[in-house]
Amino acid sequence: MPIRPENLHRYPRDWNEISARIRFERAGGRCECTGQCGLTHPGGRCPAVHEQIHPDTGSVVGLTTAHLNHTPEDVREENLLAACQLCHLRIDHGHHRVTRSLTLAARATAAGQLELLPATALVRTEPPTPPRSRPVRTYAAVLLQLSFPDLDQEAS
Ligand SMILES: [Zn+2]
Ligand SMILES: [Zn+2]
Repeated sequence: MPIRPENLHRYPRDWNEISARIRFERAGGRCECTGQCGLTHPGGRCPAVHEQIHPDTGSVVGLTTAHLNHTPEDVREENLLAACQLCHLRIDHGHHRVTRSLTLAARATAAGQLELLPATALVRTEPPTPPRSRPVRTYAAVLLQLSFPDLDQEAS
């Protein structure tokens, strides 16, 4: 995860050394996430290994060091976690907010702004359903039928 320029001063001078020690000495080059990102990893720990193909994303893993409490100054061992890009992104943004952005995308689609959506947002994850009586089936309709577990809980 690139460090934002405006936050650079918040990292200790020896951050590169600290980060390397966490990622390679402590973690052995493998993502240390055991669910902190909100995902359930098969086997308990994320399988992503530095500079190898990520089994979930298919892209090369660049291991990073995440701050679990989102505070760059806090470099205590227990606050640091070697994390692949996917886990780090989810740790930083919180899986609730990732879900929220999907919802916003669905609302944008409903409002007729389909062209603003990234292609990945259009992946349909529900199992195939039998044809319905409604003749027109738009992307917006498909998106709105996706289930958002977090939101379903909020709604009830
Ligand atoms: Zn990971
Ligand atoms: Zn994870």
